[in-house]
Amino acid sequence: MKPPVRDRPACVCRYCGFCENYGCEAGARASPNQTVMPLLATNPNFELRTHARVLKVNLDATKKRAVSVTYVDASGREFEQPAELVVLAAYVLSNVHLLLLSGIGKPFDPRTGEGTVGRSYSYQIRSGATVFTDKSRPLNPFMGTGALQGVIDDYYPYHFDHGKNGFIGGGTIQCASGGARPIEYHPVPPGTPPWGTEWKRAMVDNYHHVLVLRNQSTGMAYRKNYLDLDPVHRDGFGRPMLRMTFDYQENELKLANRFADICVDIGKAMGNVKVVREAPAKNYSIVPYQSTHNTGGAIMGADRATSVVNRYLQTWDVPNVFVLGACAFPQNAGKNPTGPVAATVLMSAEAIVQKYAKSPGALA
Ligand SMILES: Cc1cc2nc3c(=O)[nH]c(=O)nc-3n(C[C@H](O)[C@H](O)[C@H](O)COP(=O)(O)OP(=O)(O)OC[C@H]3O[C@@H](n4cnc5c(N)ncnc54)[C@H](O)[C@@H]3O)c2cc1C
Ligand code: SF4
Repeated sequence: MKPPVRDRPACVCRYCGFCENYGCEAGARASPNQTVMPLLATNPNFELRTHARVLKVNLDATKKRAVSVTYVDASGREFEQPAELVVLAAYVLSNVHLLLLSGIGKPFDPRTGEGTVGRSYSYQIRSGATVFTDKSRPLNPFMGTGALQGVIDDYYPYHFDHGKNGFIGGGTIQCASGGARPIEYHPVPPGTPPWGTEWKRAMVDNYHHVLVLRNQSTGMAYRKNYLDLDPVHRDGFGRPMLRMTFDYQENELKLANRFADICVDIGKAMGNVKVVREAPAKNYSIVPYQSTHNTGGAIMGADRATSVVNRYLQTWDVPNVFVLGACAFPQNAGKNPTGPVAATVLMSAEAIVQKYAKSPGALA
């Protein structure tokens, strides 16, 4: 199936500095509101209900068929929307949350290893080096775009000999130029006071002279890392919250420490610089932004005993519910996930249109 394509205007300002985390003033970026939504809007069957939050997928008495979804609108009014087909595309964590709340699939039990929903949640580990250049080399960090970066792929798992390293997996090393945002961007050397005149002076001195080398690495799935429903805490709708049980494991820490050393070596090779090694955090913290590359929890597989969805992203247990997103990835590949997410979604959409719509039922 060939996806429809919509023309977009060119980037007007070349590195306006707002390319990441903001809407594009020119409509140049390939955001869904520029690419997919305008095409969908021309379809007479399409209706977009904004500010609608789905709370649950409702099943019939057999628990093998979805009949509707419950959602609330912006003013808190609750609706039940009947449905022949339900496609969950609410991102990794919300997809898993909705599956657990709706009783679709068997929740994963880390003690027995049985069950599938919430299993194989994985993430990426980061480390690197911060390089302070001398004052003759301004880096103009305010000019950048979200995706502008140099990436070294030589340490991706299949590109180097793991023998002496004592870990499996690998990753990429990146030097990004995303556009230094006001307020957010103020790198200073270690030892600088966290506020006051000295901090302001260090910020001004270093603004133009800092670059960051960082790795983005593979993350294996472990039995002890999983998602489930919180037995205590509830959200504003009275539903059990999603609980994440996750920490870095020995393999990932070894890997990230090796990568920090490599980043230091690369930094030093630039000459006339001060290099600060950024060791990986020993334990995971949800607070600092690391990446939005969460994976797993509703993984794809050929065996219903160990996976939530089949190769078409159709749930094994409720064939009229499909689940799209990186929650289908059984391991974290250490790369940016959205390309493979789009590819698997395209495959799923093709199967829905060409197979499921003609003969609803299990596709695998
Ligand atoms: C700052 C940032 C930078 C990133 N950079 C990159 C990058 O460089 N490369 C890359 O590959 N990926 C990147 N990502 C990750 C990328 O955004 C995700 O992989 C991608 O958006 C996932 O697509 P998705 O459709 O699964 O989920 P999303 O794009 O998150 O879409 C889910 C949608 O569902 C809606 N939703 C959620 N819950 C409900 C509910 N209960 N009811 C109704 N609607 C709901 C949400 O509002 C949202 O619109 C980045 C993410 C962030 C935040
Ligand atoms: S730099 Fe990015 S956000 Fe700015 S106009 Fe160009 S494409 Fe749009």
